Amino acid sequence: MTAPEPQHIVIIGGGIIGCCTAYFLSRHPLYHPSTHSITLIEATTIAGGASGKAGGLLAKWAYPSCLVPLSFRLHARLAEEHAGAQRWGYRLVECGQLGATARTLATSRPSSTASGQGPAESLGKRLGLDKTLKAAGLPEGLQWVAPDAVTSYEEMSKTGDTAQVHPELFTRSMAVLAKERGVNIVYGQAKSVGKTDGRVQSVTYTDKETKEEKIVSADTVVLTAGPWTQNLYSAAPIVGLRAHSVVVRPSKPLSSHALFTQIHLPAGFSRLKRAQLVTPEIYCRPDNTAYACGPGDQLVPLPSTSDDVQIDQSRCQDVIDQIGAISDELRDGEVLVRQACYLPVSEAGGGPFIGETSVKGLIIAAGHTCWGIQNAPGTGLCVSELVLDGKVKSANIQSLDPTKAGM
Ligand SMILES: Cc1cc2nc3c(=O)[nH]c(=O)nc-3n(C[C@H](O)[C@H](O)[C@H](O)COP(=O)(O)OP(=O)(O)OC[C@H]3O[C@@H](n4cnc5c(N)ncnc54)[C@H](O)[C@@H]3O)c2cc1C
Repeated sequence: MTAPEPQHIVIIGGGIIGCCTAYFLSRHPLYHPSTHSITLIEATTIAGGASGKAGGLLAKWAYPSCLVPLSFRLHARLAEEHAGAQRWGYRLVECGQLGATARTLATSRPSSTASGQGPAESLGKRLGLDKTLKAAGLPEGLQWVAPDAVTSYEEMSKTGDTAQVHPELFTRSMAVLAKERGVNIVYGQAKSVGKTDGRVQSVTYTDKETKEEKIVSADTVVLTAGPWTQNLYSAAPIVGLRAHSVVVRPSKPLSSHALFTQIHLPAGFSRLKRAQLVTPEIYCRPDNTAYACGPGDQLVPLPSTSDDVQIDQSRCQDVIDQIGAISDELRDGEVLVRQACYLPVSEAGGGPFIGETSVKGLIIAAGHTCWGIQNAPGTGLCVSELVLDGKVKSANIQSLDPTKAGM
């Protein structure tokens, strides 16, 4: 960037990308609260979108490879600096692919899979990985998976290559730490980015409480609105894919595994007319819960805010039935959360997009697909360098340049 040193920095969106951006800006050596103001505008609540409802898996084998190593390292560093193990459940995990055949449920429940509502879409985490499951014994610790259900198991990464955080707690912690260093967090929906001579000048938003329209000056605007990015910058090829997930407290403590499953559901399972293969992901968490998510769907368009996301209870029930069919501990556990959110995906494939757009001072950091939790600290650091040093120093992210995608 050749722009003068920014004074007023406005971040739009308090998901994990916006909060990590605020955190790294507020810790940049050139940042000083007396010369820079940083305002983060959030429409609903911090981590109210996918950042509060994601699984939280972190992996050296994620993508894009230009950002992953930096971000994986930063997660470890942040956890060390701020007691992340206690504060947001950071830990290394074992990760494997599990093939299984569903056992009959004690009680059969109606299922949306059975009623055949629209095609299911992969969230894409396993892209590039061998999808063929090799027959293998279960490792120690996985006793909570019913042995009579298992058909195969394969480790997906070596020790130290996969970790996890509780994404909502992590995102909220980043916001608190940024606020402690002077970032101003305001609640309201950004309506437009004002420009003069091709350069950003202000952001107009509707205050959440008073419903008043307010204007905040800006030399730099960082757009981190996830699947809503297009509402503020129409050239952004980013759309939302809805996905459902659940959190269960198991009847007995589980291990520290993340499992990518392929579960064969025979005809008759939960009123299914035909046999089906489903792929819920199951992440055990250190707070003695298990998170599980199902596939994406495009049945309901992105609503105007994260508060208006429609939850299809039958889709949550499908996930609960499927994971209960391979584990007594999960079947007999207590379902704590049933939720849905929108994954930010790129219409043209690829993503995330990180960098300055053709509008001077307008930076995009969005479209992180299924690896936004993993890649958030790296994104935040790169954006803080772009804003305050004028160029990204910590990674070569030229391939993520938004102007290459017509922005
Ligand atoms: C089911 C599921 C599981 C996932 N699991 C993982 C995982 O295990 N590991 C991983 O790395 N990633 C995972 N992801 C992906 C990850 O959740 C996303 O990539 C990431 O949360 C995107 O963060 P974000 O900040 O860009 O968007 P969001 O979390 O959507 O945040 C955007 C924010 O912007 C706000 N906003 C929008 N418009 C405006 C406006 N006009 N004004 C003000 N604020 C606005 C919203 O309210 C929201 O808070 C998963 C996603 C899903 C759906």
